[in-house]
Amino acid sequence: MTERSFRLAAAVDNGGRHRVVVIGGGFGGLQAATHLAREPVSLTLIDRRNFHLFQPLTYQVATGALSPGEVCYPLRAVFKRRRNVRVLLAEVRDFDLDAHQVLVEPGDGDTGPMTIAYDTLIVSGGSRYSYFGHDEWAEVAGEVKSLESALEVRGQILSAFEAAEMEPDPELRRAWLTFVVVGAGPTGVEMAGQIAELAHRTLPGQYKHIDPRKARIILVDAIGAVLNTFGDIDTYKTEGVVEFTLQGRTLRLRPFTTRPKRFYFVFKDQSSGAETYEAARFLYSDLRDDGTTVLDFNQAYNPPCSFNPYTTCPIPLPENRLPVKVLAGERAYPVHVPLLKSSL
Ligand SMILES: Cc1cc2nc3c(=O)[nH]c(=O)nc-3n(C[C@H](O)[C@H](O)[C@H](O)COP(=O)(O)OP(=O)(O)OC[C@H]3O[C@@H](n4cnc5c(N)ncnc54)[C@H](O)[C@@H]3O)c2cc1C
Repeated sequence: MTERSFRLAAAVDNGGRHRVVVIGGGFGGLQAATHLAREPVSLTLIDRRNFHLFQPLTYQVATGALSPGEVCYPLRAVFKRRRNVRVLLAEVRDFDLDAHQVLVEPGDGDTGPMTIAYDTLIVSGGSRYSYFGHDEWAEVAGEVKSLESALEVRGQILSAFEAAEMEPDPELRRAWLTFVVVGAGPTGVEMAGQIAELAHRTLPGQYKHIDPRKARIILVDAIGAVLNTFGDIDTYKTEGVVEFTLQGRTLRLRPFTTRPKRFYFVFKDQSSGAETYEAARFLYSDLRDDGTTVLDFNQAYNPPCSFNPYTTCPIPLPENRLPVKVLAGERAYPVHVPLLKSSL
């Protein structure tokens, strides 16, 4: 931040208390603020909206099942009995970490930028939508992370039924009544289900020209599985075994075939849990034209779950537990990450 001529926002007499500024009145910010409010601090909660939005139900607003008032709660009301908490409606633009100041644009849009001083700063501004690298989709496929956008999506969905009612061309009518939801995670599944609810239960009988029950709802997901994040079930094809000789023994590994002529091995050996990572290691090889493949164990590497506790990894098939030590390839990390969860 270079410009220093901003006005200091009106301060409240905090009796010299420690000044905490919390940015964002979402799940994170609200948790922090409600707990810290009980301490002898002077707390300022800043949000660009003066209400908390219960995001898990915005998809119901987007499909007309709930009204905005049912998913929003005024932040001021949360803290009305807390004399040490003030709520400011403002857009946070920048921080001056050296000067301990937050630069904000007040919600009225006219006042001009201001600064708010803090001793402790908590930033919980949430996350942005991901369009899987296709930001251009945002223009046609609204998100449901804010009330405004959820209402926009609701307008789009309801207008589609209205447009279909007036459309004489059957092909175009069918297009209006086709809804595509991309992403079969919890929100995608909820959205698709709620559109179906609208088409099958709420709207039938209300139109003269169309039958809303004819609406097509298409749920698309790259991995071809619904709600995969809950069970972490990935399906892999396996089309045979690779036989090889190691340390004088004939051994076999069953690879997954994730791409044509490409083998993906998830294996364990007698070094697993000692010199190498305990759950499994990964190895890739290519099928050659003569039907053979080169298993280069120097390229065996640790799965993501070996270095962070937030990922799940496949465990090896029973036949992929080699009865020999394979000390080539990546070894165990000095800092051990406990096995949290694994699945196949
Ligand atoms: C449709 C949907 C369904 C969901 N379902 C579930 C569920 O079932 N279970 C579950 O656990 N989670 C669910 N989630 C996720 C959950 O809602 C989020 O993880 C959670 O809201 C994140 O909280 P947060 O505090 O990090 O951010 P948010 O709740 O997004 O809050 C961020 C706040 O910061 C404010 N803000 C951001 N930038 C600025 C700025 N520059 N200036 C001022 N204010 C700013 C925003 O206005 C907002 O109020 C769902 C989310 C969605 C969208």
